Amino acid sequence: MFSLQEILDIKKLLSPDKNIVIITHHNPDGDAIGSSLGLKNFLKNKGIEATVLVPNDFPKFLKWMPNSKDVVIADYKRKKAGEAIYHADVIFCLDFNTAARIGSLGDWLTKSWAKKILIDHHQQPDQFDFVYSDTEVPATSQMIYQFIEALGEEEFVDKDVAECLYTGIMTDTGGFRYRSTSALTHEIIGKLINKGADPAMISSNTWDTNSISRLHLLALVLGRVETVQNGEVAIMSLTREELKNLGYQKGDTEGFVNYGLSIKGTKVSAFFTEDLYEDFIKISFRSKDDTDVNQFSRKYFNGGGHINAAGGRYDDTLEIAINEFKQILEKENI
Ligand code: 5GP
Ligand code: MN
Repeated sequence: MFSLQEILDIKKLLSPDKNIVIITHHNPDGDAIGSSLGLKNFLKNKGIEATVLVPNDFPKFLKWMPNSKDVVIADYKRKKAGEAIYHADVIFCLDFNTAARIGSLGDWLTKSWAKKILIDHHQQPDQFDFVYSDTEVPATSQMIYQFIEALGEEEFVDKDVAECLYTGIMTDTGGFRYRSTSALTHEIIGKLINKGADPAMISSNTWDTNSISRLHLLALVLGRVETVQNGEVAIMSLTREELKNLGYQKGDTEGFVNYGLSIKGTKVSAFFTEDLYEDFIKISFRSKDDTDVNQFSRKYFNGGGHINAAGGRYDDTLEIAINEFKQILEKENI
């Protein structure tokens, strides 16, 4: 958590006459949007307007969240995003550790004179004016609640704030299953429910809204999942052609990589997808226990993330990317 002095300094910065911007990472997920909208709605309840900026669009299954329509998507509203950063006095940087994770917004962020406040749970964060970084916490949304407690302002957590933070914690813990889910996580979840978050509504809105295209893509992927390294590593993939043919929509392949880990005996799951527009392969890694896919992805695939969930990219064809991955596994255990 921030020091007491930092909390006092941040409190002074949070006033209605300041321009406050909240930025989160490229391909925003439930925790990115949940923490950003949770903080925005909290500030709103304090009488402070803040602008949430994301580099690119986010999945439909997150668009039920309170005030999600106000999120400024830089891909579509470049001018508005640029102006917001240009005029910002304070910029909250949520759920990312380095400017490279926010695409084109990174340059603007680096150049901005605003006070930058990082709240994040990824490893090795860059320099910011204020840093609350903790890799043991399962979700940035949980850190936002802890930050609000440190400010002593839980009274401004209403149903809207609670729903957003609940969603972020629920999605980043894989439904309260992953390792860093703690007693404190559940205590905070309890408080959010008391503030009005409805678990059944939130999980249904977030998870029971599959499109037909998602199920068709899932069927295809599961139909040809393979394992290598004596069953320890699962590999899955989708080509651009397949994505297009089955009517891919943003968010459709979210979570597919986890199916690889559900195979008994696997330690790592890797999911390769061809980008729809550019010639590179996006890779998602998941692992169990102490198997560190963050280091692996940093070393070989220009990526990073957490010990058990990381992403990366490879600038060649799908086939070559998968072959390269297999060859690396021959040389080195993850
Ligand atoms: P996903 O596989 O769901 O896209 O990402 C899993 C985790 O790795 C997330 O925490 C995400 O922020 C991080 N991540 C995904 N892609 C990249 C990447 O290219 N670089 C870095 N540094 N982190 C990534
Ligand atoms: Mn997160």
